[in-house]
Amino acid sequence: MAIITKKIKGTEDVLPKQSYRWQFIEKIMREEAGKFGFRELRTPVFEHTELFARGVGQTTDVVQKEMYTFDTKGGESVTLRPEGTAGAARAVLEHALPNEGLPIKAYYLTSCYRYEKPQAGRLREFHQFGVEEYGTSSPLADAEVILLADSIFKRLQIKNLHLEINSIGCPECRPKFNAALRGYFGRYTEELCETCRTRLDKNPMRILDCKSPVCSKIAENAPTILEFLCEECQEHFEQVKKLLTAAGVEFTVNPSIVRGLDYYTKTVFEFVSDAIGSQGTVCGGGRYDGLVEELGGPSLPSLGYAMGLERLLMVMENQGIEIPEPEPCALYIAGLGDEAQLKAFELINQLRSYGISAEGDVVGRGLRAQMKYADKIGAQFSLVLGDNELLEGKAKIKNMTTGEQSEVPLDETFAVNFSAIHMTAKFGQR
Ligand code: ATP
Ligand code: MG
Repeated sequence: MAIITKKIKGTEDVLPKQSYRWQFIEKIMREEAGKFGFRELRTPVFEHTELFARGVGQTTDVVQKEMYTFDTKGGESVTLRPEGTAGAARAVLEHALPNEGLPIKAYYLTSCYRYEKPQAGRLREFHQFGVEEYGTSSPLADAEVILLADSIFKRLQIKNLHLEINSIGCPECRPKFNAALRGYFGRYTEELCETCRTRLDKNPMRILDCKSPVCSKIAENAPTILEFLCEECQEHFEQVKKLLTAAGVEFTVNPSIVRGLDYYTKTVFEFVSDAIGSQGTVCGGGRYDGLVEELGGPSLPSLGYAMGLERLLMVMENQGIEIPEPEPCALYIAGLGDEAQLKAFELINQLRSYGISAEGDVVGRGLRAQMKYADKIGAQFSLVLGDNELLEGKAKIKNMTTGEQSEVPLDETFAVNFSAIHMTAKFGQR
């Protein structure tokens, strides 16, 4: 029979043989976030459409073209989360977390959905690790979140990742910059792509982020925000740079980084890799001091970022970074005959209750097929139980690599005895 259907374009399966790679990076992310005082926040996969329209911004590509939006049977418009920040801010407000003390530090590890043109490093369902810090306008917080990303990349041993930072000012200085941009890009209206022509009026800063070669060429000589920053924004940016330098984090200032959300203010940054071609941004974020207010909350300066797990794994693969594979089954117990099977079943349960990975036949196979399976799963040790072993109350544990055998009693000391043999093989004689 033909399979029912194939997976949806732009989505990926993570198969059991590959999932350890994901678990490895996720574990490091959780550990590093924990060290920095961030706790996990889990929000629903869908939210009211309005949340993203307001939280991400009407003029962004995400809201204009990329959202998975649908009406429920109850007639509500809901959207699969295209990013994690809006939902996190909604949860923080809904549960009045600011009353519990500031800053609020949260991280998330979630799937996101964007209707994009699928290609390497660009999917329709992808995964992000992100952090959010609410209730601080201090440059110390900017440095802290960037340092967290940096320490994750260091632990993952990723090489050649460049940190590029910029400041995009605040509602005070940005209008002057936007006016200068309109003046500059206005001279090239005919040449700009269609999207950028609409951006010219609504959000000219986004032209700086356009990926079309013509627009990016024109953007090369555009005025830069750094000439327009107000005193406060300038001082803030100087402090962030000073703190990063003090922490030994290398960076370059790239005035063309503007980021995709509408509510970014002051610091914006990206970590870019040259190892995976054009989809090279593995992490992007910054400050969004106006976001919480935009969502109807109090003034709560915040910041954060998200990194794409698929892109990170691609970079690691391209750089040949090894991810430790999970340890295979410690002991496979093969049973011959009903009575021996029952004993094998008991011993396996005993091993597992001691935290030792153990397997036995669950298919009803003969001895040869059982041993073939033990080989296939890479079992470190094996043991065959037949009538003789049951009669004598002991059996031989075989080291599958060296062929060495050791006899152990088949009683309540079994797991402890096996553990000693296992540990000796692993770490040597003490
Ligand atoms: P890009 O400019 O590459 O489209 P973006 O600015 O839309 O990225 P963000 O919204 O800042 O990206 O998301 C943060 C990170 O999530 C990105 O740096 C990237 O690593 C990852 N990411 C974003 N969109 C996708 C996607 N469609 N597929 C896979 N990863 C993605
Ligand atoms: Mg995008």
